[in-house]
Amino acid sequence: MTVYATKLAKLKVEPIENECAKCGTVHTMDMHVFQKYRTVLGMPLFPTNKTGVALCTHCMTASKRRQMTPDLIKAFNKVKSQTHMPLWTWAGSLLIGMVIAYSLYFHI
Ligand SMILES: [Zn+2]
Repeated sequence: MTVYATKLAKLKVEPIENECAKCGTVHTMDMHVFQKYRTVLGMPLFPTNKTGVALCTHCMTASKRRQMTPDLIKAFNKVKSQTHMPLWTWAGSLLIGMVIAYSLYFHI
């Protein structure tokens, strides 16, 4: 078990109008948007940035964020703007903050 890790939470899957760069078909692309978050001992600590994957459902080619064309980046930013950071990704920080506040208040 890793102590400190980065994980992904799927936020949204949206069909996009872009043409697949590999097979050239249109209306077969989906944009997957993920929230990255850090964990300690499996407990979510805090969110970092959002990332995405453009997937062609015809030829199953996946383009990661750094491999996307400018048109795909534009579509990614549009879908990303429709998502929100999940509050549960702060759960570990909230718990640690509560323990610190409790120990300071009761002088433990
Ligand atoms: Zn394709």
